[in-house]
Amino acid sequence: MTAKRDHIIISHWISAPDGWTLLIHGGAGQIRREATDAATDAGVRDALRLALEAGSALLAEGKSALDAVEAAVRLLEDDPYFNAGRGAVFTADGVNELDAAMMDGATRSAGAVSAITRTRNPVSLARAVMAKGPHVMLSGAGADRFAAEQGLEQVDPSWFRVEERWRQFEEMRDSGTFDVDLKYGTVGAVARDVQGHLAAATSTGGLTGKRWNRIGDSPVIGAGTWADDRGAATSCTGSGEHFIRAGAAHEISSRVRLADEPLGLAADAVMDDIGSLGGTGGVISIDGSGAGGWCFNTPGMYRGLATASGVLCVALYGDE
Ligand code: ASP
Repeated sequence: MTAKRDHIIISHWISAPDGWTLLIHGGAGQIRREATDAATDAGVRDALRLALEAGSALLAEGKSALDAVEAAVRLLEDDPYFNAGRGAVFTADGVNELDAAMMDGATRSAGAVSAITRTRNPVSLARAVMAKGPHVMLSGAGADRFAAEQGLEQVDPSWFRVEERWRQFEEMRDSGTFDVDLKYGTVGAVARDVQGHLAAATSTGGLTGKRWNRIGDSPVIGAGTWADDRGAATSCTGSGEHFIRAGAAHEISSRVRLADEPLGLAADAVMDDIGSLGGTGGVISIDGSGAGGWCFNTPGMYRGLATASGVLCVALYGDE
């Protein structure tokens, strides 16, 4: 744990293990042991474990980092504990608008979607944009139309609605506040495969009560999501506006690539910078050697790590 300026950054970095590595997150924020009931604690840990297992199984078979991050994120999107896909937060208009991105560190191909309302797994749509479309970023109804053309499952918008999120939305609406310091539940994954290639993916419902088709950092390539084999792959969660202003995920990669900084130092420094702008949240990151980890300046962050050497661990709070 390193104390910097007036905020604390909690970080954990491992040196490069042999073979593949996978890191995931399910959001950072006001995640405290004393405020979490036992069922939620167990449910979130199980969901993180399942996502790690799904991605790890693919990496162990020699599949790509892209396949692994997509598989892990899809499971988290379908799980109502997280603010992505099913269980996404509500906009001020009481609807779910979903954002996602994916990037391939080998080719720097990237795909992103924002404000979609009908595609069940936004991360798979981001991948389709990356792999099959001429563009990098699509939004709204057009993005959902592209998803349907690509044969991706379409659902009624009610699929994304869960009652607990609606309750949170009503509470916020009635109190007249805006979701800037709550529990961010964005999900993401970064991986290095046995071929040595990196990938990153992020998926989110954004912030509760967002207005005017607000788009956060998650689908902004270079802000909430970035992958470059020569530097690092990163997925962010937190107060998206600050991560955009810091160019967070790209900045971490650039520090590694151009300044030759160790990944942990680079990511901690960028998180420190975000904190100095007033931002809160966290990142997971991995470099071309497979060294990776996380850092966050919030009380907790849902997170997990798996490596080819048999490590598989999940953590929720800042003290574990
Ligand atoms: N970073 C996301 C956003 O600003 C929110 C989150 O991490 O939960 O849209």
